[in-house]
Amino acid sequence: MSLEFSEELSSPIISPTFAPQDAGEIGLRPKLLSDYTGQEKAKGNLSVYIEAARLRNEPLDHTLLYGPPGLGKTTLAGVIANEMGVNIRITSGPAIEKPGDLAALLTNLSPGDILFIDEIHRLNRVVEEILYPAMEDFAIDIIVGKGPSANSIRLDLPKFTLVGATTRAGQLSAPLRDRFGVSLRLELYTPEELARIVTRSATILGMPIEPEGAMEIASRSRGTPRIANRFLRRVRDFAQIMGNGIITKETADLALKRLDVDELGLDAIDRRMLTAIIQNYGGGPVGLETLAATIGEEAITLEDVYEPYLMQLGFLTRTPRGRCVTALAYNHLGIDFSGQQQFNI
Ligand code: ADP
Repeated sequence: MSLEFSEELSSPIISPTFAPQDAGEIGLRPKLLSDYTGQEKAKGNLSVYIEAARLRNEPLDHTLLYGPPGLGKTTLAGVIANEMGVNIRITSGPAIEKPGDLAALLTNLSPGDILFIDEIHRLNRVVEEILYPAMEDFAIDIIVGKGPSANSIRLDLPKFTLVGATTRAGQLSAPLRDRFGVSLRLELYTPEELARIVTRSATILGMPIEPEGAMEIASRSRGTPRIANRFLRRVRDFAQIMGNGIITKETADLALKRLDVDELGLDAIDRRMLTAIIQNYGGGPVGLETLAATIGEEAITLEDVYEPYLMQLGFLTRTPRGRCVTALAYNHLGIDFSGQQQFNI
């Protein structure tokens, strides 16, 4: 726990993972599907499944939510619980250490309840195996006693819904993946959607904000609501101390420049990563591990935090031979692309 905490403390301002400074975001979580901005495809399907389950008076099918961190997976699990009118128990893969921990969680559920397991790809194998019969037959087998007199007894569970969240659907074992009836992928948000989220958050927090101010924050938030809400709080500080308390385009721009976030939301590490590929590897392809070693960052951080947004911008491509920087990125960094092509030849 303390290790995770110190890791989070050092996380950069653009990190999409939950950090202690984000504690305030919990009050900003939408409670109903109608408040949940964006993700139209996932929301559209989900509302049909919820409606149908409610009509049949049954729990919702087990649901897997996947996509980069900070996009609203935990929030959506809470929304599902509210829409279904049931309780939610929240836990995470690494927190369930032993089969007994999972058994305790499962046997304490009431009929229809939701068990939310964040980072479900990090469940250990023994625990995962308990989950299979729990998901399929709503029962678990527990061993009573030790040695030759040990006995396995089957315990029935209430019908519940497992909502699993993961940033890495590819790391889920096939037997676990197959047991989810519903699988929803969350996408990065558009700046317009993020501007709506920022405006809603500002209203809840009682901060006056101009539409251009909301858009300025939104377009630098890397498609991620968690980052948008974090920027909003930082911009508010600048608006109160250096402006007239109202969040305008100018105060947002000033604050985000001070935080070293450029007009597209790139920070120093994004720029270092792109520049390293260009200057050291002729624009790519370069393998992720090599790149990580070159700029002194963890490969997993580059993959989870930096790449999704750089790829959405069209600045970076992944090829079987490694990462490549595109002409758009050269342009943004002010580096001549034509010279680079000659260099490649
Ligand atoms: P994840 O579980 O995917 O890491 P969270 O559900 O914790 O992300 O979302 C992070 C924060 O972003 C939430 O506290 C909430 O304030 C905000 N948020 C996420 N999705 C939305 C949305 N669709 N509409 C409004 N706010 C959102």
